[in-house]
Amino acid sequence: TKFSSIDEIIKPKFAGKKVKLRGWVHRQRSGKKIAFIVLRDGTDTLQCTAKKSELSEEKYEEFCNIKYESSIIVFGTLQKDDRAPNGYELHVEDFELIHLADTFPITKDQSDAFLLDIRHLWIRSQKLTQTSRVKAKLMEGARNFFKKEGYLEVWPPIITGSSCEGGSTLFQLDYFGKPAFLSQSAQLYLETLIFAHKKVFALTPSFRAEKSRTTRHLAEYWHLEAEAAFLDLNGIMDFEDGLVTAMIHKVARDEKKSLIALGRNPKDLLAIKAPFERIKYDEAVDIINSKGVKIEWGEDFGTGHERALTKDLKSPIHVTHFPREIKAFYMKTIDGKTAECNDLLAPEGFGEIIGSSQREEDIKIITENLLRDGSDIADYEWYLDLRRFGSVQHSGFGLGIERVMRWICNLEHIRDTIAYPRVMNRNTP
Ligand code: ATP
Ligand code: MG
Ligand code: MG
Ligand code: MG
Repeated sequence: TKFSSIDEIIKPKFAGKKVKLRGWVHRQRSGKKIAFIVLRDGTDTLQCTAKKSELSEEKYEEFCNIKYESSIIVFGTLQKDDRAPNGYELHVEDFELIHLADTFPITKDQSDAFLLDIRHLWIRSQKLTQTSRVKAKLMEGARNFFKKEGYLEVWPPIITGSSCEGGSTLFQLDYFGKPAFLSQSAQLYLETLIFAHKKVFALTPSFRAEKSRTTRHLAEYWHLEAEAAFLDLNGIMDFEDGLVTAMIHKVARDEKKSLIALGRNPKDLLAIKAPFERIKYDEAVDIINSKGVKIEWGEDFGTGHERALTKDLKSPIHVTHFPREIKAFYMKTIDGKTAECNDLLAPEGFGEIIGSSQREEDIKIITENLLRDGSDIADYEWYLDLRRFGSVQHSGFGLGIERVMRWICNLEHIRDTIAYPRVMNRNTP
């Protein structure tokens, strides 16, 4: 017989059928006459029960001494059992140990620091496998949506000669004897690509040397960015609403079990509908102050401000028209005072998940902005060419995948949204 996978067989039509599975021992418990293992095969877990009366004495003994994380082949009959976690169990008739594991170092109640040191083994845990599955579905939902809306997937460079989001969080590297940087955002390159393809998106790692310790900043994160020609601020916000709902609805439909295990009800995600509420920065500042958290007009939002604004919300909210001074040179301004931009904030206090704006298309204004920032125009000549050859109205955004993850998986710390978190004092394993 050929091998099956757990997710394909835990269905009524397989009840009473003989199956052969292979995987790893997730849990083990044994008594005098009956012993159990929970088998994990990468698709799901299944309780496997062995009875002493049905195996040879020797085999039963071996079954009882299997250690966690050993690899194993099991053969037996699948049975419906309402007491088992997914409604089925395997009645073991035979098994073959592939590799008997050493004593697994992870037991209950270990410190966060230890679990980070041993991340290469901890990624086998239920919590991290669930979050990884959620992440894959989020991206599947995103790609489907971009495709439906006619966006082309592109692959901008990661090593760059100039910065995009400001110098203080840049990682510098030695590029054949000259300085270069790891990308913080693909935006400027995506802007070049819309003149070839009109609407583009990219999923790339972004790197930021975040020196403050927060629960929502990684030094390496996955950045989903898009750029579109002939689109204004309202147009890009409409698109973001559609994208975010498509992503979270995909997870709510296809990863129910994982969400529930993580403490998030899929129905609550399905209840979130576009369009999201939009308020101006001015109004947001008043609301934050009214909640007893101090902020003055002109300040950018910190974690505490975003939490005050969003902790009682059930759906994401856009804050638009931030003061021009705290925003980047490429954003369009209409009144001279505020930028045509928006931050999309997740509800329940989770905060910023998207930064977005309509881009300035006039070369004179962009040049003035760069000079005001003290930038070297020569570094941006290639970018300014976009305003010399067929400049058009355009807009774009960047979404932090791990920020969305933290929200929908209900996680306190962003490090649990990624297999191998990179933060200030950690880059191994
Ligand atoms: P924040 O205000 O939270 O520091 P930002 O305004 O500096 O974020 P942007 O430059 O707007 O971030 O980047 C676009 C998106 O990338 C953000 O909306 C966020 O979702 C995500 N992001 C930014 N920095 C990080 C980080 N250090 N770790 C994880 N995601 C990040
Ligand atoms: Mg930042
Ligand atoms: Mg911000
Ligand atoms: Mg931002």
